[in-house]
Amino acid sequence: MEPPAPAASLGEFDLIAKYFTPPVRRAALGVGDDCALLASAPGTQLAISSDMLVEGRHFLSTVAPDRLGHKALAVNLSDLAACGARPVAFTLALALPFVDEALLAGFSAGLLALAREHDCELIGGDTTRGPLNVCITVFGEVPAGAALLRSTARPGDDLYVSGTLGDARLALEVFRGNVALPGTEFDAVRRAMELPAPRVALGIALRGLATSAIDVSDGLLGDLAHIRRGSGVGATLDVDGLPRSAVLGGLSVALQREYLLAGGDDYELVFSAAARDADAVQAAARTAGVPVTRIGRIDAEPGLRLVDGHGQPVEHRYGSFDHFRSAAAPA
Ligand code: ADP
Ligand code: MG
Repeated sequence: MEPPAPAASLGEFDLIAKYFTPPVRRAALGVGDDCALLASAPGTQLAISSDMLVEGRHFLSTVAPDRLGHKALAVNLSDLAACGARPVAFTLALALPFVDEALLAGFSAGLLALAREHDCELIGGDTTRGPLNVCITVFGEVPAGAALLRSTARPGDDLYVSGTLGDARLALEVFRGNVALPGTEFDAVRRAMELPAPRVALGIALRGLATSAIDVSDGLLGDLAHIRRGSGVGATLDVDGLPRSAVLGGLSVALQREYLLAGGDDYELVFSAAARDADAVQAAARTAGVPVTRIGRIDAEPGLRLVDGHGQPVEHRYGSFDHFRSAAAPA
């Protein structure tokens, strides 16, 4: 029997026009010419960040396309959030093994829905054949000198984290078959893994208030280490005080600690603020509609100290995820 003739598939430019050419309102020029054009407001700086998602490494081949589109932009917006920048625009470089319209339609819908939510316009990109790979570059705007940095935490500052930690890692371990959860609980943690909410409003509300910030992508301890080393400070963390979902709280203490401290893929903000600004931090959190929990403090003494709810030291061996090292490096 003859194999069925392949359905006429879209060409490169048709698929860009169909799925990746939303009308632009703020950019001076969007998709279609050799470059897009962006005008920056006087007195602002552009905040720029790229994140690439590779199949099998950053996402499972089974993920729903709309969730992949959401996450590809969300992880980039999370970087803007960590800097206190307001999203403006993004570009999308996409490699596709073949033109899969079901994938493209879902991907584009999830991507552009989150883009609209944050008023962040798709203004250009590149499309090529290859193993499925999504690379986004975001452009944000921040008043000159107001960006939140990793290098400016001060001894005595309080340390905070937004939302809860560990659920995305828990979902991954369920996918890997290492942990079993009832369906409704799995759905909840799976949302954390596949539909992270970038803390953009919180980052903006923390301008002038947070003394340093980073988003948690590689695990709390690993990302906190970037603040510690960048700022030349140490930190003390209350492990029992780390915010967690009810689902995560149902696991053994050892697993809870591992996923909270080194889970990764959380996309929450970790930040420091002067102790006298504790009320202002909570007010900023309410403005942003995101809970924020004090989890420790910044110390002059370098290194990381973990304590439990009674202030007793907690031993740990958790490190940060590193794409080029198999074993995680201890703090
Ligand atoms: P060039 O060959 O000049 O680099 P391309 O032919 O690759 O441009 O792309 C044509 C137009 O479509 C450009 O404006 C480019 O920014 C845009 N574009 C290409 N791929 C995408 C994509 N995946 N999403 C959004 N815009 C895209
Ligand atoms: Mg090109």
